[in-house]
Amino acid sequence: MTQRMQDPGRVQGLPITDHQGLQQALQEANLPSLLMVYVQLSGDEAMLDAFASHLQSIYTTEVSEVPEDLATDLRQRLFALLTAEEPINEPPLSTDFVRHMMSVSVGEAVDPELVPVLYDQMGFERPVPRKEQPGRPQPPADFRVLVIGGGMSGIAAGVKLGEAGYNYVIAEKNSELGGTWWENRYPGVGLDTPSHFYAYSFAQSPDWSHYHPKGPEIERYLLNVADQYGVRERVQFNTRVTALRWDEHASLWRVSLESQGEVSEESFQAVINGHGILNRWRMPDIPGLKDFQGVAMHTAGWDPEVDLKGKRVAIIGTGASGAQLAVAIAPEASQLTVFQRSRHWVMNNPEIHLGVTEGVKFALRHIPHYMEWFRFRVYWFTGDGLYGNVLRDPTWEDQSLSISAQNDGARQYALAYMQRKFADRPDLLEKMQPDYPIFGKRIVLDADGGWLDTLKQPNVSLETAGIERIVENGILTRDGRLIEVDVIALATGFELAPALGSMQVFGRGGVEAGAVWGRDEARSYLGIMVPGYPNFFMTQGPNSAPNHAAGVNMVIESQVNYIIEALDLLVARGAKALEPTEAAYREWNERVDSQMQNMVWLHPKASSYYLNSKGRNWVSCPFRLADYWSMVREPDPEALVLK
Ligand code: NAP
Repeated sequence: MTQRMQDPGRVQGLPITDHQGLQQALQEANLPSLLMVYVQLSGDEAMLDAFASHLQSIYTTEVSEVPEDLATDLRQRLFALLTAEEPINEPPLSTDFVRHMMSVSVGEAVDPELVPVLYDQMGFERPVPRKEQPGRPQPPADFRVLVIGGGMSGIAAGVKLGEAGYNYVIAEKNSELGGTWWENRYPGVGLDTPSHFYAYSFAQSPDWSHYHPKGPEIERYLLNVADQYGVRERVQFNTRVTALRWDEHASLWRVSLESQGEVSEESFQAVINGHGILNRWRMPDIPGLKDFQGVAMHTAGWDPEVDLKGKRVAIIGTGASGAQLAVAIAPEASQLTVFQRSRHWVMNNPEIHLGVTEGVKFALRHIPHYMEWFRFRVYWFTGDGLYGNVLRDPTWEDQSLSISAQNDGARQYALAYMQRKFADRPDLLEKMQPDYPIFGKRIVLDADGGWLDTLKQPNVSLETAGIERIVENGILTRDGRLIEVDVIALATGFELAPALGSMQVFGRGGVEAGAVWGRDEARSYLGIMVPGYPNFFMTQGPNSAPNHAAGVNMVIESQVNYIIEALDLLVARGAKALEPTEAAYREWNERVDSQMQNMVWLHPKASSYYLNSKGRNWVSCPFRLADYWSMVREPDPEALVLK
């Protein structure tokens, strides 16, 4: 059956009159994405078939170039189409045809269930704001929702609550919005998810300067979205939520808020916790840190006033933050010593430092559907296309170094890069090559001129002997050497446990969530709700982090959508409290635990911050982004208790 994916209609923004700009765009833009635009506008299936055998997964070792005459033909056809005076009406496309397009675009078979995800998350659909949808019961004005945190989750929640007509307040502990991107100001801070995917699906931007921009640009983007949707007016800045108490009698959350030393109490019908999971600094338990007489600072508490020029600097930690910091400060430090505790896989991503050219920006701004199709490719190659890397193939014979053919391919790809970079420094390869399967912990992305090249600089050294203690003028290694330093940068990551930080949440019967969960045993229903805690919702809750790839943006949007659907259900039913059933909670956790057994994170040689003290992964989502998106698409009334 032919099913319309969207209403057919006249394509807006055509004809393109800047012919020179368009020619440049057609030369510089991504060819498979241009092909999708052409096929979507023309319905020309033959062109799709002509390209199919030449477009391959970017991770394949087989190289096949698109013949130049074919590429030229496509560009000419598109130019003619986009500059023609006659209006274009898009032909209807069936679900199967769209799936075929998606598969050709990425050179891999794409499952049919991804088609609705594509339409929602790539931005093809512009849904009517909820409050304008006919027949939907409007939330009462005295139904107040508290959002905790004004980072990426809190801003998305604000936008969508506003569009749904909810009366909401955001409590933000900082003096500005932006969360992670406001707090992390260390030199070199940047994004390893490509910006064209990381941006909200409902607020895509054609203006990114880089495929992986630096922190301030992302912070600016988030602030712009907040301003554009009027979120800022709803924020109480410098305000920290310290406790939530469910008032059974009134069906309200009584909330303790602390602002500049003053504690106040407010009441809300529902609470959305968006306080983030990677923002409580992990200070290393290395003896002597307090004795150090120089400057010691965590990457997330960076003091930009500290001048590193000519200083002897130590970085402790070699995750993404440590690697980015090292690249940025090595040129100015007189001596940089990087302390590695465990080995991280490093993967080449040539786009990591790449600027977006004017031609590509033109395509993103002016060529209809280019931005959406380009976003799909990015989602695939940095998101769900990577899922095979973390899923154990039981038929894969030797599981000691890799767990599947795809995982092994990724290992070879990463290893080849490390070997190439360290061809002249076998000592560094020996120190850094991991012995566990790739994706066992978060990968550090790199490119020429980046992290591995920095480690080869004459003023940089990599220490792996281990740290005995910190003394007043430096760091003593386990093999008895004193490395004198002026500054110690603690790139030691974040404490994820306890899941709710210092915030206390008392549910039905006054039971505190932290006491139930213990330090690091938090569980949830769908990463969003917990039985016994009515109208309390989480974003990025237990087992919902997309650790196979990029995609935190997609998880957050899916969760916000679910939460608003759940609130709408509450309002529509005239109920006061909603929570998951014990059965639904148990089933979800059984499903998570069962699937987790197949994931690389539980490999005996892998260790990461995803694991709790008992070795259980309580952080990662073991499903594809698209599967999770489908699971939380709308609340299942059978799984909920409404009173
Ligand atoms: P991280 O990934 O947790 O890395 C922390 C590093 O510090 C690890 O190398 C860890 O070693 C080391 N470490 C911790 N405690 C130590 C101790 N007591 N002694 C010696 N070494 C110690 O933290 P992160 O680099 O800040 O990254 C946090 C998260 O944010 C990650 O998911 C990361 O991918 C993400 N991030 C992303 C970007 C980006 O988008 N570009 C940038 C920064 C961060 P072990 O491995 O042995 O624990």
